[in-house]
Amino acid sequence: MISVIIMNTTNSVIVIHYNEIATKGENRIHFEKALVDHINKKLTGITTKKAKRNYGKIILDTSNEKIIEILKKIPGIQNIGIGFSVDLDLKKIEKILDKVVTKKEVYRISTKRQNKKFELTSPEINKKLADYLISKGFNADIKKFTKEIFIEICSNKIYIFFDKITGLGGLPITTDGKVLSLLSGGIDSPVASFMISKRGTIVHYIHFFNDTINSRAALDKIKKLVSKLTEYQLDSKLFIVPFKDLQKEIILKVPSKYRMLVYKRYMFKIASMLARKENYKALVTGDNLGQVASQTLDNIKTTYSAASIPILHPLIGFDKLETIDIAKKIGTYEISILPYEDCCSLLVSQHPETKSKLEDLENFEKEINPELVKEAIKKIEKIKF
Ligand code: ATP
Ligand code: MG
Repeated sequence: MISVIIMNTTNSVIVIHYNEIATKGENRIHFEKALVDHINKKLTGITTKKAKRNYGKIILDTSNEKIIEILKKIPGIQNIGIGFSVDLDLKKIEKILDKVVTKKEVYRISTKRQNKKFELTSPEINKKLADYLISKGFNADIKKFTKEIFIEICSNKIYIFFDKITGLGGLPITTDGKVLSLLSGGIDSPVASFMISKRGTIVHYIHFFNDTINSRAALDKIKKLVSKLTEYQLDSKLFIVPFKDLQKEIILKVPSKYRMLVYKRYMFKIASMLARKENYKALVTGDNLGQVASQTLDNIKTTYSAASIPILHPLIGFDKLETIDIAKKIGTYEISILPYEDCCSLLVSQHPETKSKLEDLENFEKEINPELVKEAIKKIEKIKF
């Protein structure tokens, strides 16, 4: 819990730091602007204050719990410092220390001086303020401390903050185009989508839906997942592809041990076609090497070759527990474990093929009526979030 004194004062400030953007050379301004833009759009209606770029950081001249919760979900933010801004005068910092320090803690002062014209160096400021605390009967120790106080000396302000909250990290969105994520009702694909949305991309979603095994109401689960994932973006879209007729045909024409692979190849074919039409640069899946039969190396090779654009699969080397851990942190886990029969489980074998050959799959597909793909694409439904 962040101190109320720190948040509800006229000179309350949030100092937002980024990390990876700082390595972007000439593109840095582009990334910074994208981040500021994302922050300000998310804070519309929450505060009238605007976040502003300020020499390697972003400053927001206000602070409250709600704003902090929003900032914690914005890709590109490394950490969030909560404190005050004052004029370039250490006496003003001392006044703030008077208000917020307690005898229970041992403080360390950590200063960064960007403004090289300021009369004291960072170590001198650390020492001066630590001496001040000690002179007032408080504890300060540069090594054995219980609480760190951060001070940043900028060109026209000093920022002092007491709580540094870790952000999502990654890159701000809208810097690298958009991708289309194949979202099932499972645990993996929402986490995969989240991982990619931290890499500068806008993620939209596609779900293949069979209404013989699921009612329309069951789609609520998919919508809930998209809605949760959209908290990490500005807005998003979900495409729902009716998969029933194609699946029926696949069940008729393909032996059960290959069905999952053929379903998957059709998902990739349809998703690629939609992606090309709607300008998505890549697909995303929650695939994970060796997790299920359809995700062996051979099967990844034969299924992925059905896509006509790159497929990103950020969970490929994860343990299930690592994925679950992220799912819990981002709030998708509770939704993913709600009951929902995955359409791809429809009439697949207990002993699926683990070493498929492309030629075999293509031979089965020759029997499948291509009109069904066109029909499915024609009937895609689009929902905006
Ligand atoms: P998940 O937990 O994401 O469902 P999984 O371990 O159950 O993954 P599969 O069912 O083989 O594995 O699915 C692998 C990937 O294929 C999913 O992560 C998802 O990207 C995609 N996928 C599977 N079913 C669907 C579907 N009905 N609609 C869209 N994408 C799907
Ligand atoms: Mg699944």
